[in-house]
Parts: sequence; C-alpha cells; structure tokens
Amino acid sequence: MVQGKKHCQTVNIKRINLKGIMNYWEKITFWIREKLSEQVFDTWFAPMKLVELAEEQATLSVPNNFFKEWLSNNYMDLIKDAFFAETGRQLDIVFIIEKDAAPKPNVVEKAPVVSQSTSKFDSIKLNPKYTFSNFIVGASNQLPHAASLAISKPTAANFNPLFIYGGVGLGKTHLLHAIGNAVRENPQAKRICYYSAEQFVNEFVSHLRTNKMDVFRRKFRKDCDVLLIDDIQFIAGKGGTQDEFFHTFNSLYEDGKQIVLTSDKYPQEIPDLEERLRSRFQWGLIADIQAPELETRLAILKKKSECEGIPLSNEVALFLASSIKSNVRELEGSLINLAAHASLENRRIDIKFATETLKKVIALHQSAMTVDNVQQTVCKHFNISLGDIKGTRRHRAVSFPRQVAMYLCRKGLNTSYPELGNRFGGKDHTTAIAACKKIKTLVNEDITVRSKIEALERLLGF
Ligand code: ADP
Ligand code: MG
Repeated sequence: MVQGKKHCQTVNIKRINLKGIMNYWEKITFWIREKLSEQVFDTWFAPMKLVELAEEQATLSVPNNFFKEWLSNNYMDLIKDAFFAETGRQLDIVFIIEKDAAPKPNVVEKAPVVSQSTSKFDSIKLNPKYTFSNFIVGASNQLPHAASLAISKPTAANFNPLFIYGGVGLGKTHLLHAIGNAVRENPQAKRICYYSAEQFVNEFVSHLRTNKMDVFRRKFRKDCDVLLIDDIQFIAGKGGTQDEFFHTFNSLYEDGKQIVLTSDKYPQEIPDLEERLRSRFQWGLIADIQAPELETRLAILKKKSECEGIPLSNEVALFLASSIKSNVRELEGSLINLAAHASLENRRIDIKFATETLKKVIALHQSAMTVDNVQQTVCKHFNISLGDIKGTRRHRAVSFPRQVAMYLCRKGLNTSYPELGNRFGGKDHTTAIAACKKIKTLVNEDITVRSKIEALERLLGF
C-alpha cells in the first residue's frame, strides 16, 4: 500500500538513486521510524540490519529468534511497505539471526527500480489477531464492543452508521478489524471494504487523477456490503474527498449497507468537517471507548502475555498496569519491550528487571501530566473553553467543570492551593480550597459525579 505522504518520497528517492544508494537502509529505517513511537522503533528496528538486497528479496539480520518471530508476526507489512515505498518493488522479506549473518557490509546488488505507479492499494488486509475473542471487555468499552458484536451477526442490528470514538490506543482499530473478521466468518459472508480514511483519500485522489472515478464508485458503492473506515477524522478539511464520501455514505445507507466509522473525536469536535457529514455520523449509534480500568488493563496484559508466550507474574503485571493507564498500545508495548530486553539480556522478567528496564517509559508517563493538560482534558470533556475554565462565570455549566479540574489537579498532581488559584485565572487560594472540598464531598455522595471523575482520572492516567 502506498499512502499520500509516500508519493512525495518516491520523487526524492529518484534523486537519491542518481547520487548513489549506499544510504538506502537509512532511508528505509527513516520511513519506518516515522510510523512508530520512539520506544517501539528503538526496541525492534534499531538492532536490525540490511544484509542483502536482491531483485526480489531483502534479507535482514535480527538479534535472536524472539525478534524474528515478533517482527514477522507484527511488522512484516510495515517493512514490506517501507521497501515498496523506497524501491517501488514488492519484496519478500527474510530474517536471519545476527550470529548466522555473514560478516559482509550492507550490500545492494542492483539499483532499485523506482515505481511510477502511485495507485497500488489492492488488498487491504484485516489483521487476523484483532478479533472479538482477543478483545477484553470492561466498563470502559462495553458499549462499543456490544454494538460491534451486534452488527457483525448475520441478522445485523439496526444502527447505521456505528460511530466509535475515543482516544489513541484504546482499541478502535481492533474493534473495526474484529467486525470485519467476524462478518467474513458468517455463513452468508458479505463483501467488506476496510480502509483507513487516509487510504480512502489516497484512493480517491489517484482514481480522480487517472480518470477512473467509475472504478472507485463501483468499488465503494456497489461492490461493498460493509464499509469500515478507520480514523474518519482524517478527511477533515479535504473538501473533494468529503463530497465523495458523502455520496458514498448516502448510496450505501440507502441500500441498507452497514457503515462503521472510528474517530479520535466526537463528530461535533472534528474541525473542518462538513455539516451534512457531521449530522450523518450521528444518525446511528455513537459509542465511545474510554481508558480502561485497572482490572481491564490487567486482563489485557494477561491475554497478551499468553498469546505471545511471555511469562508474566502477577506482580509485574500489576506494576505495568498501575504505571501505564491511559493507552493500551503503550501498555502492550511495555510488555513486549520487557520481553525483548529479557531475551537480549537472557534475564527473567521479575519486578526488579521490569522497574529497571521501564524506568524511562514510566517516568515519562508520570511526569507528562500538567495543570494545562488537566484543564484541556476537562474542557474537552465538558465541551467548554479554556477561557471559561479560567474565568469567573458562576453558571453551573462552567463552574462545575472548573471545580472538577481544580480537584483533579490537586489530587493527581498535588498542585498547591495558591498555585491552583493562580493557574485558574488568578483566583484566591480559598476559592481553590472550597472547590476541591466541594467535589470531594460530591465524589463521596453522588455516584454520577464519582463515575464521571473516575472516567476523567483514567483518561488523565491518575
Ligand atoms: P486505536 O485504534 O484506538 O488507536 P488500537 O485498536 O490500535 O487503538 O489498539 C492498540 C492496541 O491495544 C492493539 O494492539 C489492540 O489489540 C490493543 N487493545 C486495545 N484495547 C484492547 C482490549 N480491550 N482488549 C485487548 N486488546 C486491546
Ligand atoms: Mg486506530
């Protein structure tokens, strides 16, 4: 698959090829680095080397078998994409263990052929690992999970579209793939179109450029029974694509075809989105995924360690789950990171090893939160502005979120009362004390307030 950003890179590579290709591997790793977090890149890709690049195959050396399996199972597509973006060729990727690699430098046997084609999107695969059975259900994701399951049944439920939204790394893509995988298993399997919004935009642009909009329309309107679009917020600000998507949506909707969209924002919060799309996104069911509670985080870790065959004690699991709260991807990443280091250093994953190895990652999580973050998160949650939260209006719609934000800063960041007063628009410290006291009482007495505050705490990683 080739994405928008990469088209530009193809042009650059041509220039690089003329100059020479020895820094080729650097370009490939650079391409990969852009797609991953620093932690993931450093763990998995920094130790990898390009040993040989032949006409149809690239050979990469990795430190041990654990790396070989993990990379093959999880990053094969990404690596192939990187080679495709840089060489224009679909290469087979072969991993060899470092100690078996012949001591030759990175060799490039032939100048790569740069592809002129920018429209290779053939098969967009569903990840077979993202299934319902691998998805841990808890209070934070019960509704989106139940809704996804319901529409995957042969007698699909009647909400269209299903719009799943929530923060980064909380399982939106996983659920979308789970729907696709489940629909495919149905006796009367339907035709599934799974695309990220970015791929949808690229498809649209390339078909438009090559005058093949009829092909594009057939694919999305006629040859599709279930349309799954990931990260729909990506079409914001892209007028032409929004227009096309609007017609795609209408056509499928009128034909009774299921549409599922994920987004990192609620429809109302997606900027530069046409009103007619915004309103359509709200026609069916909107289900949000929140950051998981401790029990769910523990269950996710347990499942993941079982699937990957990583021995994980309860003590280490609890340490990880209590340290990384707001993002399942990072939670899993830290487990895998531990396993990778343990395999390299030939160590057991005990609590001492876990604390040492993840010191940096965890410190990052704990120090990342600031008063500003709390204010922004609370504003977003209650849909008010930063001006409101720092202002003096006493209407409950703004005074309650303001008090909640002060309470959260006090509890989660231990901000002093005078500092709180300062940061909330120069108020007196007694105002901050009163606000914190009031919310504390409400948390103890009012279950609705308590669950709201707990959800916010999870979101903030407190
Ligand atoms: P998002 O699309 O919301 O950014 P993903 O769906 O990519 O997040 O999830 C990130 C990682 O966390 C994936 O590996 C996914 O399998 C895992 N994950 C998230 N939520 C759950 C869950 N409830 N149970 C099991 N795995 C989960
Ligand atoms: Mg996603």
